Amino acid sequence: MPELPEVQTVVDDLKDAGLIGITIRSARVFWSKTIADLAPNQFCRRIQKRRIDDIWRRGKFIIFDFQPPIHLLVHLRMTGRFNLESPSVKRSKHEHVVIKLNNSRELRFQDTRKFGRFYLTADPLSQLARLGPEPLSRGFTAKSFSGMLANKNRILKSLLLDQSFIAGLGNIYVDEALWEARIHPQRKSNLLSFSEVQALHRAIRRVLRRGLINLGTSLGQGRSNFYSVARRRGRNSDHLQVFRRTSDPCPRCRTPIQRLLVGQRSTHFCPNCQIL
Ligand SMILES: [Zn+2]
Repeated sequence: MPELPEVQTVVDDLKDAGLIGITIRSARVFWSKTIADLAPNQFCRRIQKRRIDDIWRRGKFIIFDFQPPIHLLVHLRMTGRFNLESPSVKRSKHEHVVIKLNNSRELRFQDTRKFGRFYLTADPLSQLARLGPEPLSRGFTAKSFSGMLANKNRILKSLLLDQSFIAGLGNIYVDEALWEARIHPQRKSNLLSFSEVQALHRAIRRVLRRGLINLGTSLGQGRSNFYSVARRRGRNSDHLQVFRRTSDPCPRCRTPIQRLLVGQRSTHFCPNCQIL
């Protein structure tokens, strides 16, 4: 599932492709459930003739701001991705929304697993209000993080995946951050020392920045994997230390990496560096 670095890479690609200032000519929906809360024909009617004013990210949401004002929130979920195509290219059966642009191109939403969702709304902030802070924002400090953790009596791994606690993290970057900070995924959030909180805060930001620099993480060769709009694979999988490296030696101490399930989520850690 795309996490903060992958979603930001998609946003950057859409902007680099020159979509800001482009007007939507028309839209067609081929899988109605992709459009949340609206009938497909209503969605198509409401979005046409609007100009894309900005594209940005909050948590794992991509937000398109339009003029006249309306906002499209997109959640890629497992396999959602955007393709920019010439109208002459035949639509693939996995392309469920086709948006015709006034620059002779089409923005297509491809989603093999069909969990991705579009939310068209006049008030994006109400949808985004329940998200926790952005981990790379200036306001997210070791001190504020310490207060957040102290208020919760929860297993760290599950808490860090909770988008209402902190936005944008998923399974990959949480495992990587906990390893980097030498903290066991099953530790209780309110029992960390301040120096452990500082280490975790630093680690979260470091693994996310590394993911951004490497344009996201693509795992394996499957078609459902993460690809940016520019059809690049993210390079970050070469930089993962523990995620899906079960039995490989820990890069720090050579102890074999272990896998366990925490709240149904596959979790990778070093039993020597990360002690419960
Ligand atoms: Zn280790």
